[in-house]
Amino acid sequence: MTFDETPVLVFWETTQACGLACRHCRASAVQEPSPGQLTTDEGLALVDQLGHFRATPKGRAPVLVLTGGDVMMRPDLLVLVGRARQAGLPVALAPSVTPKLSTDLLEGLRTLGVSSVSISLDGATAATHEGIRGVPGHFKETLSALRQLRELGFRVQVNTAVMRANARELAATAAIVKEVGATAWEVFFLVKVGRGQHEQELSPEENEDVAHLLFEASQYGFAVRTVEGPWYRRVAAKRREVETEDPATTFSLGPLYREQSARLRQLLGPPERAPQSSTAGTRDGKGIFFISHDGWAFPAGFLPLRLGNIKDRDPVSIYRDHPLLKAIRRAEFSGRCGRCELRDICGGSRARAWAASGNPLGEDPACAYVPS
Ligand code: SF4
Repeated sequence: MTFDETPVLVFWETTQACGLACRHCRASAVQEPSPGQLTTDEGLALVDQLGHFRATPKGRAPVLVLTGGDVMMRPDLLVLVGRARQAGLPVALAPSVTPKLSTDLLEGLRTLGVSSVSISLDGATAATHEGIRGVPGHFKETLSALRQLRELGFRVQVNTAVMRANARELAATAAIVKEVGATAWEVFFLVKVGRGQHEQELSPEENEDVAHLLFEASQYGFAVRTVEGPWYRRVAAKRREVETEDPATTFSLGPLYREQSARLRQLLGPPERAPQSSTAGTRDGKGIFFISHDGWAFPAGFLPLRLGNIKDRDPVSIYRDHPLLKAIRRAEFSGRCGRCELRDICGGSRARAWAASGNPLGEDPACAYVPS
């Protein structure tokens, strides 16, 4: 699959308004909608246009992920979802856990055919999660929301932003992912945008440790995916290729891996099944496409390079024809990523390359790999 014609996921930041103020928020979310937010009519036009991805022979329907801010702050949410379903788009939701995540609204969304909801959980303890989310009591509310979503019949994904503050709780977080019955755990590696610029990222060696841990976590009944950490696919491919009883020695891993891998075994026992890790070589602008609250198209939510505005340009042609996205899809990179034999399945985080050097086609400094 080349992803030249159609993204797998289109993220639409329906609003920047959100009742929370998380330290790593990409949108640096605010209490009220920001100026220029797409109106209901503009939103309806957008979902109609996204439906046109299906119109060409190689085209298919991308999954429309409605995000924010907090998507529940859009009073026209059911109208927008209904239109997206009419346009043939599968719809997933990424809401914040606030009182706006009501049973009535969730049941309405379920009736319209929304099957997947992702919820952020940024630690395995109240102190860590609430330290990041900034809301007392939010840890318990998040666990309740995850369980309620399962009871209402949604497929649930847990999203975790990994950072120094929670890296030593990753195994325990994986245990919660399993306990709440999530089908997927999506782990985001920080990029210095929005409030995230104030957080301390892990080193490349620690990222390598985390990637190996995630591979092992994917053997407990839920899929593991990464955001802005495509080198996870390199690690997963290597782990499938090289069977070893002692990954720490075989892959020269560090103390973070050793500690958390042992903890994972302690909490969940021996691996239960084959690893579930996607091998699809998606990255910012290749399979991933982002529309901001005011209609600007970007390669991804963490790569703030404007490609055009959907108020005056068709998003399908922006995705298919923009020179930057074509270069990203052809893996025309410089530095280590340009020399890397794995650049097609990985390709590095384009957002982090841009944040580090101003070049979205440069190398990803968070990757520890030195190409042969
Ligand atoms: S060098 Fe770049 S392409 Fe190669 S594994 Fe690392 S991030 Fe991926």
